[in-house]
Amino acid sequence: MTKKENQKTNLIKTFYLLLSVLLLTVFTSIVSTVAAVNGTIVIDPGHDYYDSGACAFGVKESTVNAQLAYKLATKLRDRGYAVYFTHPISYANNVGNDIPTILPPMNRKYPILESEGGANSLCGAINRINPDAAICVHHNSFDKDGPQGLEIYWRNNGNSAEVMQKSQHLANLLYNKCQNIYSHGRGVKIGNYKICLAHSPTVLFEAGFLSTKVEFDKIVDQNQQHRMAEAMAQAIAEFVGVRQQPQPQPQPQPQPQFTAIMGTSLTSPEKMARFYQNNSPIPFPSFYANHGLDLNKFCQLYYDVANSEGVRAEVAFCQAIHETGWLRYNGTVDIGQLNFGGLGATGNGVKGNSFGSVREGILAQIQHLKAYASIKNLNNACVDPRYKYVNKGSATFVEWLGIQENPKHCGWASSKGYGYELKNLIYRLLNT
Ligand SMILES: [Zn+2]
Repeated sequence: MTKKENQKTNLIKTFYLLLSVLLLTVFTSIVSTVAAVNGTIVIDPGHDYYDSGACAFGVKESTVNAQLAYKLATKLRDRGYAVYFTHPISYANNVGNDIPTILPPMNRKYPILESEGGANSLCGAINRINPDAAICVHHNSFDKDGPQGLEIYWRNNGNSAEVMQKSQHLANLLYNKCQNIYSHGRGVKIGNYKICLAHSPTVLFEAGFLSTKVEFDKIVDQNQQHRMAEAMAQAIAEFVGVRQQPQPQPQPQPQPQFTAIMGTSLTSPEKMARFYQNNSPIPFPSFYANHGLDLNKFCQLYYDVANSEGVRAEVAFCQAIHETGWLRYNGTVDIGQLNFGGLGATGNGVKGNSFGSVREGILAQIQHLKAYASIKNLNNACVDPRYKYVNKGSATFVEWLGIQENPKHCGWASSKGYGYELKNLIYRLLNT
């Protein structure tokens, strides 16, 4: 081989090497695009903690909805779909914490019907995710034993022709796979549910009749639930399309479903004041003027005292709002006691503790909160007379301040859903 030929060969070799690198890069990027996510599905586990839907033979609809929804979610996730719940289901046996949610818990009537408010925010949240499909998981009920079988609803008005047609198609695919899992199905039907106004194909799935004993027994059976969820997952996969072999996919980071009490404050004194002004049924009480405080100074004080103990200001402030009824004090505690957390007001008209200054009253409430939330020492001298009674660190989350929801069955208050009511106030404050 001459030198010239040799150079030519080298040039050709280099060319092919570059070409193969290029092709490999393109191929790899195609493969990694395919491997990303097969699609996105929103599952709406019908009803929630506050509105549990139907109830039969001692079982709430919200519980079986959550169980079936969670099985469906894991099966879709295993097929490589990104899955979101509309709202947390952790109240139902502490499952589902690993599925991210697009809304906080709903504390109003479950908003899916045309006549009910709240569905707009649900549709809005679904639209932000823009999933390939959304499915509402419910169970039917009737006033007597007898009717049974699957019903699937899709909406035939008020949405784009494309979305409605796809929703009907999704309903048919689901029905084909699922109609005989529990009992003989009752058909695909038109139902003008408001949630079906989302801009993605959406159906409402009524898996069977809780109120009919023979079907009830299947609905609560975990193996039967798996069969139903598997058939649902197959139908949804057929609808959205599977572009690769099923393989576990990295999930988007689940949003923490529990709300920490300790930590950096996410609000500001200005926001707290605005929240009070916009939502309180009464103007800020002139009583506090005697203590040199207008609303802005009061909020600033709350913010500073909370931060001095490492407690989130929005948690402390919302608890005070809840405990005092927006500082109206129409319970047993009087405004003059400067007791913002109802400390020592243990019921039966017991008036509870009194404090020497607004700051001391606020600090006492916040130290009591910290006692529940943390095992750390107080940063200020202890002014909470009930600090010693708290099992330290027994309620690290807002949700667990309610004794009924606390896994250790202790907490700040015994009323049902106490922590969730606080959480809802906090959410409203942060969105002010
Ligand atoms: Zn329902």
